[in-house]
Amino acid sequence: MKKIYGNEYLIGTLNNMRKNNRLAQSVIFYGERGCGKKLFADYYTSLLLCQSPTENGPCGKCTACRILSTSSHPDVIYVPTEGKLEGYTVKTARAVSSDVCIKPNNNTGKKIYIFRDCHNMTVQAQNALLKLIEEPPEYACFIFTAEAKSEFLPTIISRCVCFGVSVCTEEEAEASLLESGFTAEETAEAVSRFHGNIGRCETYIRNENLRGQVDLTNRIANSIIRKDEYELNAAFFSVGNNRNDILEILSMIDKLARDAAVLSRDSSAGTIGCFREAAETLSRMLTIYQAMNIHNAIERGCRAIEANVNGAFVLAGVCAEIMEIVA
Ligand SMILES: [Zn+2]
Repeated sequence: MKKIYGNEYLIGTLNNMRKNNRLAQSVIFYGERGCGKKLFADYYTSLLLCQSPTENGPCGKCTACRILSTSSHPDVIYVPTEGKLEGYTVKTARAVSSDVCIKPNNNTGKKIYIFRDCHNMTVQAQNALLKLIEEPPEYACFIFTAEAKSEFLPTIISRCVCFGVSVCTEEEAEASLLESGFTAEETAEAVSRFHGNIGRCETYIRNENLRGQVDLTNRIANSIIRKDEYELNAAFFSVGNNRNDILEILSMIDKLARDAAVLSRDSSAGTIGCFREAAETLSRMLTIYQAMNIHNAIERGCRAIEANVNGAFVLAGVCAEIMEIVA
């Protein structure tokens, strides 16, 4: 299994649960995208299945650990998502419910169901899973990952043990990326963009699409700084009409506005967004009130996108609002 950086407290808690034989049957790992929730879902699975765990975690040597490291353990079911939204529907939930009833016919005596990225799990699907999570057969375990606990119904949350996963420090992210074989240059560039979020740093290096989005957001940031409405409109127009692309870019601009607000109070403060330099310039240009207003405009834009309003229309509105705020 890949080494986990940071989150020492969480690792300690999970190992204590294992030692005391109190690993819960239903758990949620939540935290921002890229922070390592899936890694923790796999870690939890190996704590459940390892045949000779140590004080510090799964042994890494037994049959279960070895099979798990190839991601193809027969007792671990990665529940597939469905449809364009890549979500979990009531159909998925019912399929899992009927599969759970079949007793495991394997060495570990367990069946572990992993639901990754539950942001698109419908209310009906959650309700269909509720009974199962309430009274699961003793061999069944359910692991969910999501960006926020609030993606789940309170009834689901109350029946699961919830664990928050945090991003690492920049030093830990650097160490992890170098260990994964990325060059020092790639690592430095990625960490300057996504800080201690190892998953996002890796995606940034590997994925041209994310790099394109960062470049485009940089162009948007510079148009705001120059108060160039024509260029800002053109940049927003080239985002296109893909919902996820729009949300990604709006979220990056939002972090930029947040960073500008923080830096205007304390110019040495840490930043969370991708553009430290642009945030510094904006912090000298904008009042905190203006930065907050940009944040509000973006939040309204995101809500409209989530309610399926046409993307180009929403972006034109956000652009107009930003220009009015910075004018
Ligand atoms: Zn083991």
